[in-house]
Amino acid sequence: MQDKAMLMIPGPTPVPESVLLSLAKHPIGHRSGEFSQIMAEITAGLKWLHQTKNDVLILAASGTGAMEAGIINVLSAGDLVVVGCNGKFGDRWGEVCDAYGLKTERITAPWGKPLDPDSFRQVLEADTDKTIKAVIITHSETSTGVINDLETINRYVKAHGALIIVDAVTSLGATNVPVDDWGLDIVGSGSQKGYMMPPGLAFVSVSEKAWAAYQTATLPKYYLDLGKYRKDAQKNTTPFTPPVNLFYSLHTALTIMQREGLEAIFARHQRLQSATRAAIKAMNFALFAEDGCASPAITAVVPQGIDAETVRSLMKKRFDIALAGGQDHLKGEIFRIGHLGFVGDRDILAAIAALEAVVYELGYKNFSLGAGVAAAAQCMG
Ligand SMILES: *Cc1c(COP(=O)(O)O)cnc(C)c1O
Repeated sequence: MQDKAMLMIPGPTPVPESVLLSLAKHPIGHRSGEFSQIMAEITAGLKWLHQTKNDVLILAASGTGAMEAGIINVLSAGDLVVVGCNGKFGDRWGEVCDAYGLKTERITAPWGKPLDPDSFRQVLEADTDKTIKAVIITHSETSTGVINDLETINRYVKAHGALIIVDAVTSLGATNVPVDDWGLDIVGSGSQKGYMMPPGLAFVSVSEKAWAAYQTATLPKYYLDLGKYRKDAQKNTTPFTPPVNLFYSLHTALTIMQREGLEAIFARHQRLQSATRAAIKAMNFALFAEDGCASPAITAVVPQGIDAETVRSLMKKRFDIALAGGQDHLKGEIFRIGHLGFVGDRDILAAIAALEAVVYELGYKNFSLGAGVAAAAQCMG
């Protein structure tokens, strides 16, 4: 059947029809009063979403662009940066640091396990002459479905005085990321994740402390020079031509999110996570992340005895449901169910029912048909 595709990947995520329709308007000039009006409302909405009074700047980029901008605007070549690495994205921020000639100390944990906050405490406490300039943490590690204990790690960073740079790409809009309460200096995110929008926009929140670091940071930058974005944002415009139509859709998406409310959004993601995990357990599959460190946005499943790629391709072929695969060495070992953004109970029930049918067809009989759906439904009552 055509046009019945269902995206259950952690990005791009599904997009509401009203958000899609808002793209279908004629572009307007980004120096016009009409654009400034939209930009002003968007900026207020972004601050609401980030729970901050800090600048939240908008770039035409993907989430990686937001993180790269955050890193290069506050650091200088040779600076020492501590990077938390327990998956694909943590590793990526280490690679960005390498590319710019930063020195890194990588604190690692095996893929599927959370970063140990105590390792950060030890490294930071030992750094009595304050050579560490920043700590980079991936809050929700999308590659493994693990959420890191940002709140605790950040407390140690605060005690030390380094900047905290956060990849919140799959935690913002899914779980509580109170930027001002926690004092997060740089927070990066991208439109195709929790924002219920198509890909193409990236967001960076920048604290006053980060702006102070910007004053002395010497890494080269031009298109990603956040000072330019800040200066123009004060006039409700952008330094370079923005993807105007994506601004329309962001405007619509933020309105929808504000109508639902932050607490309700977080509760919905919590419920989707619990329902998905309960279903997977009821099917006697293993969860890649343990209960205490499960991402609100994505559940990684180890389908013991079945090739994960076979499950994915049959889900696509039979039901037109897209699941994500494992990355790097996890390819074939895990598949990942996204439940981020414009996802509701119905989507989870449908995806689990389809998954049951698919693994049953593949000869997996170590569960009773319907057990996954029943377990998920019980979390939704
Ligand atoms: C998707 C994602 C990103 C950004 O990836 P892009 O492809 O550059 O948008 C960064 N971090 C995490 C944790 C992600 O899930």
